[in-house]
Amino acid sequence: MIEIITIGDELVSGSTSDENSRYISEAIYSIGMTVSKITTIGDAVEDIENTLRGIQEQTCFVVITGGLGPTEDDRTAQAAAGAFGRKLILNQQALDEIEKKLKKFDRTVSTAGRKQAILPDGCIIVPNPVGTACGFLIEDGKRHFVFLPGVPEEVRAMTESFLLDRLKKIIKSKQVILNQTLRVFGLWESAIQDRLRDVFPDKSTASLGYYPDFPEIRLKITGRGSDPERVRQDMSKFQEIIYEKIGEYIYSDRDEPLEEVIGTLLKNKKATLSIAESCTGGLITHRLTNIAGSSQYIERSFIVYSNMAKQELLNVPSDMIQKFGAVSEPVAFSMAEGVRVLSGTTYGLAVTGIAGPAGGSAEKPVGTVFIGVSSLSGTEVKQYLFHGSRDIIKIITSHTALNNLRKFINAIYNRS
Ligand code: ATP
Ligand code: MG
Repeated sequence: MIEIITIGDELVSGSTSDENSRYISEAIYSIGMTVSKITTIGDAVEDIENTLRGIQEQTCFVVITGGLGPTEDDRTAQAAAGAFGRKLILNQQALDEIEKKLKKFDRTVSTAGRKQAILPDGCIIVPNPVGTACGFLIEDGKRHFVFLPGVPEEVRAMTESFLLDRLKKIIKSKQVILNQTLRVFGLWESAIQDRLRDVFPDKSTASLGYYPDFPEIRLKITGRGSDPERVRQDMSKFQEIIYEKIGEYIYSDRDEPLEEVIGTLLKNKKATLSIAESCTGGLITHRLTNIAGSSQYIERSFIVYSNMAKQELLNVPSDMIQKFGAVSEPVAFSMAEGVRVLSGTTYGLAVTGIAGPAGGSAEKPVGTVFIGVSSLSGTEVKQYLFHGSRDIIKIITSHTALNNLRKFINAIYNRS
């Protein structure tokens, strides 16, 4: 059996959520093994010692994270020494590693830093490719205990560079594991489940996992088995069925975010985009520009919060705003077309809406949003009513706007 123990007062008090066990168990699962137990405890040395002593007989591999740092509250090494009846001694290899790293920053090892090299006698050092504190491995009879620091980034790096290889050496698994993640937007989890009920063949080596990641759902197909060809066939059968049932809502079969899918689309078509944002306050542009290389296709963006800004920067007629209101179909149309024409881009994307909590009316309640997409061949506006807090409405508006743009571009190329 494989177990994980995560250590930290911040984890048991609820101020930090435990990312490490989630990451490690997923990584272990991806190489064909399953973690059977995850335990989270505070920093108290006797708790750590007792937990290590109480590990069940059947468990052969334990990963422990947290408490290896230089501060007073980092007591994992001390607890490990106590639990395995070993002395704490200065580990020269660990000290050398720490010195080497600090030298890069022109710093010398302080007393607190030296503490990180005081480790249980006879342990094997696990190098830390990103931080200073080394991890260590203790072999106790047939059991293996891998101690890693708590910082999630370091845990990820050391899982990749050490943990998985070590685990594969200890536990021989003949299984192959393949994964594929589809990104779905526009259908909630329950609706997806309804459409995918009873559609998959029995006795498949593939299985399906739902991972909601607001406002979308990741669908992860996992194939596990001893025959790689069979696993591949089962997975592609699963994928085929999923596309048949909900294909129109799947925007990526490679786990890419929407902004990346759009970036690739625009780059491939050598097209450019300008954006006019009202209620999203720049969120759409922020997301699009998170993608490296977005300067190739994002030409400019306007945040047009006031009526005046819409008139002055986008040439939205003031009588149109007077007549229909700033949150209206004609204004969204005029914004999308205006931003495209003024910027000279292939596409224009515009949003105007009421994010709340104030500003709604009976006719246009909070959450009313108009999204416009424009190209030389025409402009399309869609109206929505979203629910939730201001943040939620902004997020879902940005997502819907990006998705509408994606569909709009695809439709143009599918027509021609
Ligand atoms: P350091 O050298 O930074 O002190 P450490 O091994 O002592 O590392 P901790 O002090 O336990 O690790 O944690 C370091 C940081 O990582 C803290 O900000 C802590 O909140 C965070 N952290 C620790 N464990 C987890 C976890 N399981 N999930 C997410 N964050 C964690
Ligand atoms: Mg610490």
